[in-house]
Amino acid sequence: MRHSNRAALAICVLALAACSPKPETPVVSAKNANVDDGRLLDANKDGANWMSYGRTYDEQRFSPLTQVDEKTVSGLGLAWSSDLDTARGQEATPIVVDGVMYVSTAWSMVKAYDAATGKALWSYDPEVPREKLVDVCCDAVNRGVAVYKGKVYVATIAGHVVALDADTGKVVWDQTSVPPDSHMAITGAPRIVKGKVLIGAAGSEYITRGYLAAFDAETGVEAWRFYTVPGDPSKPSEGKHLDAAAKTWSGEWWKLGGGGTVWDSITYDPETDLVYFGTANAEPWNPAFRNTKEGDNLYTASIVAIHPDTGEYAWHFQETPEDRWDFDSDQQIIAATLPVNGTPTRVVMHAPKNGFFYVLDAKSGRFISGKAFATVNWASGLDPVTGRPNVNPEARYEITGKPFVALPSATGAHTWNPMSFSPTTGLVYIPTNEAGFLYTSANKDWKPTKIGFQVGIDLTLTAGTVDPKSSAAAAAANTGALVAWDPVTQSARWTVKYPGPWNGGTLATAGNLVFQGTAGGEFRAYTADTGKQLWSFPTQTGVIAAPMTYSVNGTQYVAVLAGWGGVWDLTQGDVTRQSGIIRNISRVLVFRIGGNAALPTPPPTATSVLDPPPFTGTAAQVADGATLYSNKCIVCHGVAAVAGALVTDIRHSAALNSEKQWQLIVHDGLLKEKGMVGWAGEYTPEQIEAIRQYIIRRANDDKAFEKQAKAKADGN
Ligand code: CA
Repeated sequence: MRHSNRAALAICVLALAACSPKPETPVVSAKNANVDDGRLLDANKDGANWMSYGRTYDEQRFSPLTQVDEKTVSGLGLAWSSDLDTARGQEATPIVVDGVMYVSTAWSMVKAYDAATGKALWSYDPEVPREKLVDVCCDAVNRGVAVYKGKVYVATIAGHVVALDADTGKVVWDQTSVPPDSHMAITGAPRIVKGKVLIGAAGSEYITRGYLAAFDAETGVEAWRFYTVPGDPSKPSEGKHLDAAAKTWSGEWWKLGGGGTVWDSITYDPETDLVYFGTANAEPWNPAFRNTKEGDNLYTASIVAIHPDTGEYAWHFQETPEDRWDFDSDQQIIAATLPVNGTPTRVVMHAPKNGFFYVLDAKSGRFISGKAFATVNWASGLDPVTGRPNVNPEARYEITGKPFVALPSATGAHTWNPMSFSPTTGLVYIPTNEAGFLYTSANKDWKPTKIGFQVGIDLTLTAGTVDPKSSAAAAAANTGALVAWDPVTQSARWTVKYPGPWNGGTLATAGNLVFQGTAGGEFRAYTADTGKQLWSFPTQTGVIAAPMTYSVNGTQYVAVLAGWGGVWDLTQGDVTRQSGIIRNISRVLVFRIGGNAALPTPPPTATSVLDPPPFTGTAAQVADGATLYSNKCIVCHGVAAVAGALVTDIRHSAALNSEKQWQLIVHDGLLKEKGMVGWAGEYTPEQIEAIRQYIIRRANDDKAFEKQAKAKADGN
């Protein structure tokens, strides 16, 4: 290890000027993040370190460490913890290299710790303008950093890729990755492949064109950019693969961007020398508003393989042709060697939002097999040869003109919460969600707005008219599970059910363990072969991120970020309450055998009684307000104006009492520095007043319901 004073002294001798004036600067190693291509390629053998987002290039999230195993895990205790200064969802997987932990937090901040003690070494804040939230569907989250040759790379919500000095946290270079004035945001973790930093961006609900870009790791200069959807056909050709894709689109799709954003998975397989990534839904969700005739809309909702040296197309496999349900295929892609008809075959495995588990040939993209890993009603199955879904006619809501409740929902049977694969058990451990979503086509005169969420469907029935009596039933229908999936037989080996959706990512280890945090505020260990729960720790908040493990000086540690948030809290906070804990306490938690640290006692959960002003509006205002609210405001403020843990519940807002104050905030943007932008360019003062009347009506309805429920409970 490189913690010795002698190593620190050696650096001071070499660089006196840098060391002597600042004796307080911690020096943990000769040069932190000393990771090169050789170490990344051999990461599988290096159990002590977790050097990239998915631990190894194949993103299996499997650790060979065995000090913590099925026999010793009962002795696992807290080694250290660190409170984070961002009360938003924490989705990152920490990176650990040679005893130093690097972790990104909400708002794209980065922190470095001594991985054995938790001593803070440095932190970095890109100071993202909070009004950027209007471009973000799913919270101000960040899923992780990359490290390479003494630098730490973070991609920010504002769309920058930033290289930091791994010793100091100082900016080495800062490159804008998203197009100028775009509504794109970056939440994903960059990956390093052959000296380049690879990263895409999110935004397929915000008029954007998907891409994956590569930047020189040393200089930040852009090396290539692969667009996932064709652009304006009157402009020069951008490559044969996009000319071919353009034949699957019609009308003037490029004016709405096309979507297909690359916001999560990027997997490099040295065995095929290909990079695999997933793409998001086509934009907008409703195909009636992007095309004049039917078409697959390549390369949206697909896995795409490209050559990492040049960014050139290799193959694609589309999972949801002509998507209309927001079935992004961005979820993590695992490369592995599996027996296929008895022959060891290099494959990629995928469990996207649409609910089917796919196994594809890694070299060619050929469909090998696929089966539903969660409840699916939008398709009756996959074609056994092509893997194309057999779509149920009633699921095409824009053609039938009738609302359709789809399973899975737009939040997905599985999304970014990482799964893991154990080569020992041969199982993939998938955090799954069971939930429905009501799709209704918008009116034919639907038009996108300049800012905000735009999908071409009318969410009023979905999100605006929930009556309090039915919300408990709706909540009960939303559940989750940890599914141990056999990718060879395409069936579940074992399942652990959870009362609610949105449980954490998973980690598999050679100690026959699977670790997972839960929405209900526990960090658990199960046996990997049978799913028997062996250990649990109360985390005081929901865990959505994935755990990781590493060792320092012979001691194995298991780490996870705790901190409830993300899309489920923001849009559907109320229907996740059955999980047990709805609050955000953001922390890094690190465990070891014999750890005996304790968490501070959590603050009591605040309870507040609804006290809205009396309703004085009209039924027409409530109807208008419900539609306006449901199609924009729900993205942050929740279904039926009921908030989760992150955002103040607007049914309690003091501004409801004053039309003038309400207009200052919602129309003029008084609170934009807190993330609430003004909607003056989109909504008239009359429309904004209708939203106020709708929320006052909702708050009074809920107040009356709470009063009735209390009276019933009191026996009156
Ligand atoms: Ca999407």
